[in-house]
This record gives sequence, structure tokens and C-alpha cells, in this order.
Amino acid sequence: MSRSNGKTQLSEYRRLPSVDRLLQMAEVGDLVAAYGAPLVTETLRELVATARGQIARGERAPSPESWARLLEDRLVHLVAPRLRPIINATGVIIHTNLGRAPLSEDARRAINTISCGYSNLEYDTDQGRRGSRYSHARELLTALTGAEDALVVNNCASAVFLALSALCRGREVVVSRGQLVEIGGGFRIPDVLRQSGATLVEVGTTNRTHPQDFARAVNEKTAAFMRIHASNFRQIGFVSEPSLPDLVETAQQNKQAAGRILVMDDLGSGTLLDTTSFGLGAEPMVQQSVAAGSDVVAFSGDKLLGGPQAGILVGKEACITQMRQHPLARALRVDKMTLAALEATLHSYRAGRALTDIPVWRMLSRTVDDIRAQANGWHAALEAKGISSSVWEGESTIGGGSLPGESLPTLLLALSSSSLKDPVDEAAASLRHLDPSLICRIQQDHLLFDPRTVLDEQSDVLLEHICAVAKSCSWEGKAS
Ligand SMILES: *Cc1c(COP(=O)(O)O)cnc(C)c1O
Repeated sequence: MSRSNGKTQLSEYRRLPSVDRLLQMAEVGDLVAAYGAPLVTETLRELVATARGQIARGERAPSPESWARLLEDRLVHLVAPRLRPIINATGVIIHTNLGRAPLSEDARRAINTISCGYSNLEYDTDQGRRGSRYSHARELLTALTGAEDALVVNNCASAVFLALSALCRGREVVVSRGQLVEIGGGFRIPDVLRQSGATLVEVGTTNRTHPQDFARAVNEKTAAFMRIHASNFRQIGFVSEPSLPDLVETAQQNKQAAGRILVMDDLGSGTLLDTTSFGLGAEPMVQQSVAAGSDVVAFSGDKLLGGPQAGILVGKEACITQMRQHPLARALRVDKMTLAALEATLHSYRAGRALTDIPVWRMLSRTVDDIRAQANGWHAALEAKGISSSVWEGESTIGGGSLPGESLPTLLLALSSSSLKDPVDEAAASLRHLDPSLICRIQQDHLLFDPRTVLDEQSDVLLEHICAVAKSCSWEGKAS
């Protein structure tokens, strides 16, 4: 390094204020009042250290006036929640990466009411003594599904794990080869089975398995036949799996060899409403599985049920009791906020209001005309601001490991790259960086926005965000 460079560097170092000096600045005093002295001091140390690093690399130190602003920017960033809302314009209704099911208004209110105070979570107000957290959703779940008993745990993965651990440990569980699936997030049925202490017995072939394959696998160690929903993939062509009634019958016919053989059904998503009424294929219904004679049915709270993350187990009383008393149930238990939201969600079904109350079902049952009206409304609002867009026909998907390959017709707002300041990839990235983030689809050099998954109250922000990345926008609102 030359002498003159060394000299500038030295004078740059001298221009660096000490943390104490910075703390005496009036603007910094205001930030101390807002953010607290420890966080401000720590952040100042970090900023001064960063400035030293910059000088060492031959850069200039921040000017004296800029410190307060640097500090405030950093503090705003530090205290901002990392978990933030997103506008989902992808058209994937149960988007696992985007938090799955948005909750109903009632569920939100219930969380609010219960979380801010004490509750009867484990208290029986009639008896004035300890109660069970598992009693709250139980009545609703048995009434809705026809099951004898019900238990709620943390998620469906833990529900399956608890069922296998409590009911099949040290014994054999028979599963069709076509159902040994991996679900997102590394949940692999063979691995879960092994972890539970049960032994997997694979029967049939990848594409075809018959009731006799199950019957032939039975021996004195057989604990259960298990059916697993294929979740996020679909087999087509020369395929066959035994129906649930077939499995129940086969289990009953073979009980002499093994003692009672349980039938366990991992529905994954599961649904209480008939998806075929909405132009979709048939997603297995929880009530059907119970009626067919399953001993244990497991399904998610935040897939097609449209509630909070939870794993719901319904079935025969003896099985549910055994699971409720298993030590793992304590480790996998749900908290009061989940129970509050779940109860409110189930109430919507009980009251026959699921289609209007529960966002997942509202989105799923929206008519194409309704979506077209919204897409056209967006198109017109953008046109009024000098942004050209078009409305395309397209498809929304369900997601969440339910109804793989199925889609619903929709209308999409399409923005071509000619309307955007930047190429589509960069525009999509800019939309992700706005607050709240806006996530859309990219296709054929266009940004595509599906109104189906955008909540009513998010429409205006969505338009402002689009305006922010558009080439020309004469916006009167916040985005201008
Ligand atoms: C999604 C799914 C699970 C896991 O459910 P989580 O609620 O995400 O834990 C388990 N089994 C099947 C078949 C699934 O589709």
C-alpha cells in the first residue's frame, strides 16, 4: 500500500467516532428511548466494527451525519419479525411453503381470546379439578366423523408416529409397496415405521397390490394393516390397491392367526367435505374411513380441513385411549392456541358454514365467474394507472399433498415483460422483497397472478406492489 493511501486510511480511522460519542448524539438518544440502551449500544459497536472493516479495505468511513440513519436502518431491520405475512398469488391453495391453510375469522378470534389469558385448558370447571386438554375438540370430532373417540397431536406426521409406537411396537405392520411414500419434509413411511419400533412388511408390487397379498403376510406377529394416502403423487395405468372395506374384511378374516389385526388409515390431508362437489376428483373422506371400519384414522389439521397445524386421530375408543396414555402423547401434545383454532374451525363444519367461513374451502369453491370478475377488476385498475395487462385462462391447484394432478379452472392476471421495468425474473424478485412479499407465477415471459388465493383485503396492496415494478405507473396512492 502506498504512503498516501496509508495516510488517508489513518485519517479515515480518526474520523471514526467512538461508541460513547455516538451515544451522546441527540438522534441516537431518541433511538435509545425507542429501542433500549443495550440493543442500541450493541448495534453501534457492530456498525463501528463494520466501518473499520470498510476502511481496512480502502473505503471511506461513514460521514458523521450518516451514523444516526445507519443505526436506525439497522435497528428497524433487527426488530422486524422474521416470520411475516405473504400475499399468495400462486393459485396453490394449501401451499406448504407459505404456511398451508389461512385460518378463519372465528379461529383467529378464538386464538386471540384464549392466548391472552388463562383458560380451562386442563381444568374441569364443573368438578373444580384437573381436566384434560384432549377433551375439548373430542366431542366435535366424534360428532363430525362418526368415530368413537378422538385425539389431537402436533401434526399428522406425529399422529402416525404415535399410532405406530403405541399400537404396533415390536410387531409387524403390513403396507402395500405402492404406498411406501415419501411426503414433503423428509417424512418417509418406511423410516417412520422403523423409528416407531414396528417392523415393516411390504406386500404386493409397485403398481398392484391385492387383499390376498395382505392375507398371506399375516402371522402371529402381525399388528396392523396400514393404508397410506399417496399424497403428492399419483399412479395411473395398470394399478390396483385394496379398498379400505377390503382391508377391514381381510383383517377380520385373518384374526385367528394374529389376534385382532388393526386397520390404520393415514389420510394425510383427509377431508370432511366431498371434493367431487367442486369439480375435483375424490379425496378420501374421514367419515368414510371411519364408517368402513378403520381402527385409527390420521389426518392433518392444516390441509383440507383448513385449520391450524395439528394431527388428528379418530377411531376406536380402545386404540385412542392407548395412544392418549402413551408417553409420546405428552411429547407431541398441542398447545392452547392450536386447540382454540381447531375447535373454532370444527364448529364451522358443525354449523354447516365451512364453505363460507374457512378460507381453504372459500377458495376451493369460488366460481370461475367470481374469479373472472376479480381478475377483470385488477386489469381495469391497472389500466387506469397506465399499466397494460391481460387476463388469461389458467388453473389453480390444491397443494398440501391432496388431490395430486387435480386442478380448478381459474383466470389469471398476466403482465408481460414489456409492462415491467425489469426482466420478469427480476420483477418477481422485487415483488418478493416488498412488504408484504407478493409471490406469483412466472410463465412464458409473463408474471401471473391468480385471484383465487389472494385474500379480499390484500387486493389493493397487490395492485400497489404491481405498480411498483411496472414500467410506468401513474398511481395516486402510496406506491407513487
Ligand atoms: C401431509 C401428510 C402427512 C404429514 O402431515 P403433517 O400434518 O404435515 O405432519 C402424513 N401422511 C400423509 C399421507 C400426508 O399427506
